[in-house]
Amino acid sequence: MSTPRKSSQHVYDYAIIGSGLTGLCIANALSKITTNLVLIEGGDTFGGFNRSVSTPVGLTNNGLRYLPSTDLTQKSLAFLEMLLTTNLNPQAKECQPMNYESGGLKPFIGFGDNPPPFYEELNYFASTERIETNLEPHEWTQLLFNNYTGDFSPRSFVTKFNGENSQITSVTINGQKKINAHNFIYCGEIKALAGLLPEDALSAKAKAKLTKNQYWTAVCLDLLHAEKVTDSAAIHVLNGTTQDELGPCVGRFLNAAESSDGVTRQYSQWMTFVDGEESEDTEVIGAALKKVKRQIKRAYPTALDNMSFERILVVPEYSGHGDLKLSANQSLATYQNMWIGSNTISAQKNILGALLQAELICASLGCHPLGAQVTTIVPQASAQADSPASES
Ligand SMILES: Cc1cc2nc3c(=O)[nH]c(=O)nc-3n(C[C@H](O)[C@H](O)[C@H](O)COP(=O)(O)OP(=O)(O)OC[C@H]3O[C@@H](n4cnc5c(N)ncnc54)[C@H](O)[C@@H]3O)c2cc1C
Repeated sequence: MSTPRKSSQHVYDYAIIGSGLTGLCIANALSKITTNLVLIEGGDTFGGFNRSVSTPVGLTNNGLRYLPSTDLTQKSLAFLEMLLTTNLNPQAKECQPMNYESGGLKPFIGFGDNPPPFYEELNYFASTERIETNLEPHEWTQLLFNNYTGDFSPRSFVTKFNGENSQITSVTINGQKKINAHNFIYCGEIKALAGLLPEDALSAKAKAKLTKNQYWTAVCLDLLHAEKVTDSAAIHVLNGTTQDELGPCVGRFLNAAESSDGVTRQYSQWMTFVDGEESEDTEVIGAALKKVKRQIKRAYPTALDNMSFERILVVPEYSGHGDLKLSANQSLATYQNMWIGSNTISAQKNILGALLQAELICASLGCHPLGAQVTTIVPQASAQADSPASES
């Protein structure tokens, strides 16, 4: 989508900052009530962490993706389905996580008395039942973007919110030009708000709280194995026998597939965490990656032989507790035309937090897609046999 040039005097109804899952959900819902809106993105493209990445096995999620089976997951997916007007067919699947112990893979039953410091982050992936949907998160963001009808402004990093008389009036882009709007919805990192908002927006105590919380950096590794490694689709929680300063990792193997050269290969995705304060130290990141590989090799001795592809992704501030007091409608108390969509604000984290925070804001802005008709996608092969169904 190209961005139409607007005069510097133009005032949008809504400016949404950040085109990750949260921002795209809100932009999508708002575009059903106005087209005078702009989605502002600092990166080259939309999707944030849930953008598609191109790999030798085709487009995949940007790192490991997993949804625990809970009522809140179902609720958040129901909201997404209404936005997409598409049935994602969420299915709960029993899938006991595994760990490697005493020479074999065993059901993982928890960390016992020795939980890692990033227990909360890791434990999200360790439930015995997960939800699978018929589209992957990177496909959700593509669909949300396809259905969005406002302006899109990529490579536009918001460096300041400008305000007067308790109203945010514009954002400064890349330290230069301004975009004006009547309302602003911020869906970027919560910690960055301390430096982006007008001086009087947050008290010194509130600013200190934003930056003082502990943030974890995710260290992610994708591997393309030269052969099929396992049939197991279980989440693997791998840790060494000796406790070192680096904690366990989680990961899983995707379905093995035959490539165009006739060779069957298998893709796997892994993740561990390091303290945000240490994540600028490349040695710490390197050691964390080495430990992940060591654990995979321990469980599957030939899995790392002759690999042709690996992808490393380091994500600072993967998670943290964004402690910021908001009004009940999720706007700032001091600037009430500015809503906060960042998922770290939500009591739920990750994709759930993103969807639930987006839903709260859509309800508050009067654009919740409640009652939208949800259509079932009929797979090509069975399209002739079954008539297309539609549910609400
Ligand atoms: C590797 C990895 C694996 C994950 N795995 C899982 C999982 O298995 N299950 C799960 O539930 N969750 C998982 N998560 C977490 C989940 O993906 C995120 O919580 C969710 O994507 C957050 O969406 P968001 O839109 O709030 O933020 P983001 O995806 O971070 O999007 C924010 C967007 O805002 C833009 N932006 C930020 N600041 C500015 C600014 N000042 N100006 C302009 N643009 C700005 C960014 O460029 C970005 O595009 C994972 C995350 C990562 C990184």
